[in-house]
Amino acid sequence: MTTQLIFEHSKRGRRGYRLPALDVPETTELPSSLMRDEIADEVEVSEVDVIRHFTRLSKLNVSIDAGLYPLGSCTMKHNPRLNEEIARTPGFALSHPLQPDHQVQGNLALLWHIERTLMEIFGMPRVTLQPVAGAHGELTGILMVHKALAKTGNARKYILIPDSAHGTNPASAAFAGYQIKELKSNSRGTVDIDTLAAAVTEDVAALMITVPNTLGVFETDIKKFADILHEKGAYLYCDGANLNSFVGIARPGDMGIDVIHSNLHKTFSTPHGGGGPGAGPVGVSQKLVPFLPTPTVEQREDGTYYLDHGHPDSIGRVRAFNGNFNVLVRALTYMRSMGPDGLRRIAQIAVLNANYIRARLRGSYHLPYDAPSLHEVVFSDKLQTAKDVHTLDIAKRLMDYGFHPPTIYFPLIVAGALMIEPTESEPKEELDAFCDAMIAIAKECEERPELVRSAPHTTPVRRLDEARAARQPVLRWKK
Ligand SMILES: *Cc1c(COP(=O)(O)O)cnc(C)c1O
Repeated sequence: MTTQLIFEHSKRGRRGYRLPALDVPETTELPSSLMRDEIADEVEVSEVDVIRHFTRLSKLNVSIDAGLYPLGSCTMKHNPRLNEEIARTPGFALSHPLQPDHQVQGNLALLWHIERTLMEIFGMPRVTLQPVAGAHGELTGILMVHKALAKTGNARKYILIPDSAHGTNPASAAFAGYQIKELKSNSRGTVDIDTLAAAVTEDVAALMITVPNTLGVFETDIKKFADILHEKGAYLYCDGANLNSFVGIARPGDMGIDVIHSNLHKTFSTPHGGGGPGAGPVGVSQKLVPFLPTPTVEQREDGTYYLDHGHPDSIGRVRAFNGNFNVLVRALTYMRSMGPDGLRRIAQIAVLNANYIRARLRGSYHLPYDAPSLHEVVFSDKLQTAKDVHTLDIAKRLMDYGFHPPTIYFPLIVAGALMIEPTESEPKEELDAFCDAMIAIAKECEERPELVRSAPHTTPVRRLDEARAARQPVLRWKK
């Protein structure tokens, strides 16, 4: 059994390590406060048991290093090992965040350079590197908007968010103290200019758009959104978590966007999943520069770097020290090793790969929005529900074919959504194998629906009770 607990391998008297014979006088005088009468349930296993146990467990982990991981809106792409090598450089890996500036000039230079690179990519005058996740970047951005508006005497009440936005957007805006007004998307899956114009009142602080939105569709009227908002003194926030869809091709700053966050742990390849670590730097337009978190990294005339704490209007710190420094090292390594042309090329291939899947699966699965997609594509189970097979069943069946399922039931505006993001690091052969599996499953839905409904059949565990696993997790072994 591969899923046994390590405790279950225990055999009385087995040892993983034997100490050499004692060559000093023995003492048994331990303070009684440190003594326990018995050590309950002590595990007795050999080194072989331990190595095999953990190696078997590690094989149960699905990972991007083992195959396509098409989780939409997550950008599970290959992390070049060069990133890891540079992140392990002792000067980066072993320095302490409390060392004085003059001892960590190289680290400050790295922060300064990654900010410059992001300023160029965003087309924005300044960027903060402190936020450690996309959602953290959103909160930071909205807090800056709040402070800028509060300075004019009225922080306003509402943030507008389209129904196609990422789910973290309303949560972050609410966390920053705002109420949310939802904008309904039009039939193209984008924000309607007239709907927006009617919604932007003097009470609105900002519009938060996800670019591309969660349908993988690009908003074509962003400049007009910005004009409508700016005319009323409001701000335009861009959730640019998935910048691999347009990095090097379009710059948010040129579109009139005031605040953007991007997920370095997606677009810029640092490994992620399972909760981090991440980095969600935020770029701002000139109006918001005074409100950036402190300290900022600055360069003196003589080329040395320092941390500048002197910004009276700053929203303050949003994170200890300088964010997730090791993630920033990986991201700058990636940016530099790709170069500007390479970064543009990742966007081109990410979009090409998503559209390739769209073209190959069209007909087998329903496409709720037929606008051309950027880096991801959303299908639904509409064609399969006639046979009483649903998105969850299709996702489970994909596991039998050896693929990690795509994101399911998101975005919420598509019933039974299957949101597929192949990313640019997949070769065509892998995309074809995935599409072949999806097409085979569509056929099974017609011919043997029960087989799909009862999937997975080949995985170590079958369908789990996810609600119970989340609410009553069993975290300790009991005899
Ligand atoms: C992943 C993602 C987020 C959230 O990023 P985290 O780092 O998980 O907090 C926000 N918006 C979009 C569009 C995303 O894809």
